[in-house]
Amino acid sequence: MAYEIRTYGDPVLKSQASAITEINGKVARLVDDMFETLYDSDSGIALAAPQIGVQKQIVVWDIDDQPMALINPVVVESDGEWVYSEGCLSIPELYVDILRPNQVLVRGLDIDGNEVEIEADELMGRMFQHEIDHLNGVLMFDRMTPDQRKAAMTDYRKLQETAAAPAPRRRLRLS
Ligand code: ZN
Repeated sequence: MAYEIRTYGDPVLKSQASAITEINGKVARLVDDMFETLYDSDSGIALAAPQIGVQKQIVVWDIDDQPMALINPVVVESDGEWVYSEGCLSIPELYVDILRPNQVLVRGLDIDGNEVEIEADELMGRMFQHEIDHLNGVLMFDRMTPDQRKAAMTDYRKLQETAAAPAPRRRLRLS
């Protein structure tokens, strides 16, 4: 079942998600629903459970037709710097160049409960940082410089006012 994606202003996006203690059928169904919601979205490549209103530590993504889910993921190491024009399904139409570490080492559980470690950089590294932030109630706005945030808030309000206007060209959105 596809869910409605929660957008900026919804308190669930600012709350801490809780760890999954048992990977059961309920978790598997939730992962399926998250993929369905992701594929229904306009150009999203990843989704975190709080974005569908579920305060659980689950992230799903599909980059290069390789769908994967990670449970209780954490960034254990990060290195380098990379600027990328980030977008978010929960902050529709806004894209901002955000500086973050480039490489990350992420640890979590796969859907079978096996511990996995993933090294990623560039788009995939950014996706993990963005999605894991969602699990901790952190949004793109919180990763901007004060000046960027001020401008982005103004832009976002304007974008919402003109939401009925024709959509701009499609661009990747992290989640
Ligand atoms: Zn997002």
